[in-house]
Amino acid sequence: MKYNLQFSFKLRGKFPVEAQERMKEWFTELQQLLEKGIQERDLKKISKVKKWVLKSVNEKEDELLLTVVSGETMPAHHALLRMRKFFSGKFGKEFRLGISGIDIKSYKIDIDIPNKPAKEFTLPFVSTIIFTNDTAKITLEKNIPIDFIEKGSIDRIVKLVRNKIVEQIIRGKDEHHLVVWSSEQKKPVTNENPTDIMIKDGWIQRTSYRNQWIFAPAISALTETLKEIMVEHLYKPLGFKNMVFPKVVPWEVWKRSGHLSGIYQGGFEPYFVCTPKTADPEYWEEIADYFRITLEIEPEKIMEKLRPPIGGLSFAQCPPFWTYLQGKTISDDSFPLFYYDWSGPTFRYESGAAHGFERVDELHRIETLYIGFPEQIKKVAQDLRANFRKIIGDVLDLEFREAWVTPWWSSQEGKGDDEEESTIELKNFDQIGTIDMEIYMPYRGKRNQSNWLETQNVSILGNKYTKNFTVKSQSGKELWSGCGGGSFERYISAFVAQKGTNPDKWPEKLLKYIDELPSGPTFL
Ligand code: ATP
Ligand code: MG
Ligand code: ZN
Repeated sequence: MKYNLQFSFKLRGKFPVEAQERMKEWFTELQQLLEKGIQERDLKKISKVKKWVLKSVNEKEDELLLTVVSGETMPAHHALLRMRKFFSGKFGKEFRLGISGIDIKSYKIDIDIPNKPAKEFTLPFVSTIIFTNDTAKITLEKNIPIDFIEKGSIDRIVKLVRNKIVEQIIRGKDEHHLVVWSSEQKKPVTNENPTDIMIKDGWIQRTSYRNQWIFAPAISALTETLKEIMVEHLYKPLGFKNMVFPKVVPWEVWKRSGHLSGIYQGGFEPYFVCTPKTADPEYWEEIADYFRITLEIEPEKIMEKLRPPIGGLSFAQCPPFWTYLQGKTISDDSFPLFYYDWSGPTFRYESGAAHGFERVDELHRIETLYIGFPEQIKKVAQDLRANFRKIIGDVLDLEFREAWVTPWWSSQEGKGDDEEESTIELKNFDQIGTIDMEIYMPYRGKRNQSNWLETQNVSILGNKYTKNFTVKSQSGKELWSGCGGGSFERYISAFVAQKGTNPDKWPEKLLKYIDELPSGPTFL
């Protein structure tokens, strides 16, 4: 790592004649200050002032121009902040002069990297990047404001350069996916595509909008049945309470949940939400009139009347919940907090061609959320896993398996990849990570050659959310959380893929909850 920073402290006045002499002493004092507490072997890597010049800016102002170089122990921009404190003290006390501003003239950083990136990239605030096998030489844009340094953005640029290279390696490999458990094989009653069967039987109908479907009465009834089963086998015995989570998510929430780091990078593809610039009827009158005359709208015209997005539609379902606990201190005896939400759809901009019912843009999901002390979270994750197994394997009588997967947010941060697969002990689910429950889809082919449908997951997320949303326990003990999601679209697609739509072929344990499936109209 090599940092080379040129900047100046601008003065509210002119240096007195003796400044040159005093300065020499002060630089010696400054260097000693910077070296204080640094280990011998790291001394080479701390900031050193390579050059300084007193210069006139105009008749009324001078500046102190500096070149500071460093290694990684104390990067030059960190030294800058300490020098600002040091010199404002000295200038104020001895010259009665204040520092009026800091000009960053040029900042070049040589960043150590593990390898040359497969695909070169550029970055905001960086004017050039040159990659060699072990170094990324970056030059920052001119006139970087000082609060950019104060807020830690330079350090994040350095980290981002490294992470982007590591992520390219991770993305190049298959997703970390390890089957840790499988149910017994079960004989499917069909091997047709469930979307086709459900369309044919009038259970679902595609709308004119991409990957959006209408649930007709029969599948709606089955959805309600699934809810009943979830309550009886999972939420009631484990003590979960129902809540209604918001479905419009402001940027603030996604900043804290960490989702924005991965926006449209594979794993977070939200719908955006815009509000009108004003609700004034006059402002919108021309749009209404245009429609009344042409019976059409011009979306571009509407776009002009909108504010930039305030955020988006709920994507992962649990993040907007966290405003409930944000900034709060909670009594120890309140924990664990167990909640579920199925109050409304969430949205994903699923790319590619039109998908079947198992991959929709508007999805209806059961979100399960748990917050508590680490031991409580480990226990409930294991309990949930056991009870989901009962529901999928026993009540719905489906063939499925469990896979241990690298959570997207952990691979996103460039770690979690070199974990020794053999060290993962999953009899007990008691570590940060995710278990996916995947259901066999006979129409896709043989068991060992086809994609199984990820229908439900259970995650332990550690302190990620509690920390980012500053949730504290009364005793100050660490708080963890976890969540799991499973959409009705996936549950029912998987069920129909193995069991079809004819209740005569359905498992007894499910039929217990169903009197008769309601039918829709007969379309001629
Ligand atoms: P996939 O890899 O199949 O796209 P995912 O990893 O994006 O799934 P998660 O982000 O883990 O899925 O979402 C949790 C759950 O939400 C999934 O197990 C699934 O039940 C449901 N889900 C996610 N995306 C969709 C979708 N497009 N349509 C229907 N259900 C979905
Ligand atoms: Mg997905
Ligand atoms: Zn969640």
